[in-house]
Amino acid sequence: MARDVDVAIIGGGIVGLANAWSAARQGRSVVLFERENRAEGASVRNFGMVWPIGQTAGEIHRRSLRSRERWLELAERAGLWVNPCGSLHLARRPDELAVIEEFAALAPALGFECRLLTPAETVAKSLGARTAGLLGALWSPTELCIDPREAIAKLPGFLAEEYGVQLRFGEAVTRIDDGRVWAGGKTWRAGRVVVCSGADFRTLFPEEFAASGIRKCKLQMMRTSPQPGGWRLGPHLAGGLTLCHYTSFQECPSLPALRDRVSRETPDFVKYGIHVMASQNGLGEVVIGDSHEYDEAISPFDKPEIDRLILDYLRDMLELPDPTIVGRWHGVYAKHPTQPLFLAEPQPNTHIVSATGGTGMTMSFGWADDLWERWEAGVTNQTRAVACQA
Ligand SMILES: Cc1cc2nc3c(=O)[nH]c(=O)nc-3n(C[C@H](O)[C@H](O)[C@H](O)COP(=O)(O)OP(=O)(O)OC[C@H]3O[C@@H](n4cnc5c(N)ncnc54)[C@H](O)[C@@H]3O)c2cc1C
Repeated sequence: MARDVDVAIIGGGIVGLANAWSAARQGRSVVLFERENRAEGASVRNFGMVWPIGQTAGEIHRRSLRSRERWLELAERAGLWVNPCGSLHLARRPDELAVIEEFAALAPALGFECRLLTPAETVAKSLGARTAGLLGALWSPTELCIDPREAIAKLPGFLAEEYGVQLRFGEAVTRIDDGRVWAGGKTWRAGRVVVCSGADFRTLFPEEFAASGIRKCKLQMMRTSPQPGGWRLGPHLAGGLTLCHYTSFQECPSLPALRDRVSRETPDFVKYGIHVMASQNGLGEVVIGDSHEYDEAISPFDKPEIDRLILDYLRDMLELPDPTIVGRWHGVYAKHPTQPLFLAEPQPNTHIVSATGGTGMTMSFGWADDLWERWEAGVTNQTRAVACQA
């Protein structure tokens, strides 16, 4: 069968773009299909946090650092705004302090570069961190801030100009069969097809997704207007609730006690999956979130009580010159209960690749590099699905 291209990618979010870039760097001819005129999924709705500090120690953490290097390369080559701001986890309760103390002690052995700060050292790094009640913070220098709206808009053009990737925006892929891809009234023939359709896991290959255990997860987000006078937040800020959210902190013996206290004292945070983080983009806007609601709990209409809980918590940890909220939105991603990356090969050389851990901005470049090295070497998805389990 004569090929139109070596590789067809379905989806113009970060997973599709990362796979298109890796394939093109392997010398492959690539076409990328995005059903909308511009990507509108999870990849333009997130914080823009590249977050190695939260990733499971070992292979996954190492891949997040590889992704970080790719973002820095892209910032230079594609002219993206990036801030290597690092992050602070603020401890305001003794059980939160216990977890970050334990993590800081374990960090060198686990491969993390971070250290414990006193309250005075914390406010020296972060102008906005509230001093009242602050017991200390975990400082990590490895986190980046990118602007997802800018990055996802610019990357397709970069791939087209630098690598000749063919862009087919506004073309939904309706069927894939044995290397043939139906989109935009044409049938394309590709040597390898990579489905990166994000939270739309029911249209193409519904049986594989139904068997996968993947669920939908909805997050509510907010942003302020640009802060006055060029005020800068400094590092990304996270509160004590975030220690319960990311897998890296599971190594800490005090974590179960912290979780127990949070469940007892603030059941609504647990009910809505709330943990509170803040980042600041290049425009000076502070992006604030988030919550986690699953499947049947997901409504098209946002819950004002979730925003109120997030903002109440934020007020205790952060003082902004202008806290007025000017934007509210939600995003949905595909979530697997244990795997940060879901891989399947429903047909020979047709792969489903889904960032199912809520960390696609952090992980996608590292995963794509790894997948393409393996696919080019003849290793299939099924082998990797096991090795990628959280
Ligand atoms: C609110 C929020 C905050 C987050 N914050 C962070 C963060 O700070 N850091 C981080 O690392 N991760 C974060 N995440 C997770 C991250 O955004 C996701 O893991 C990532 O964006 C998923 O990328 P994706 O390409 O799989 O999906 P998407 O961005 O949703 O892209 C999928 C694309 O496929 C297209 N598509 C689907 N079906 C077809 C078809 N049949 N034909 C053609 N096109 C199709 C869709 O139109 C869509 O554009 C956050 C997620 C959310 C929702």
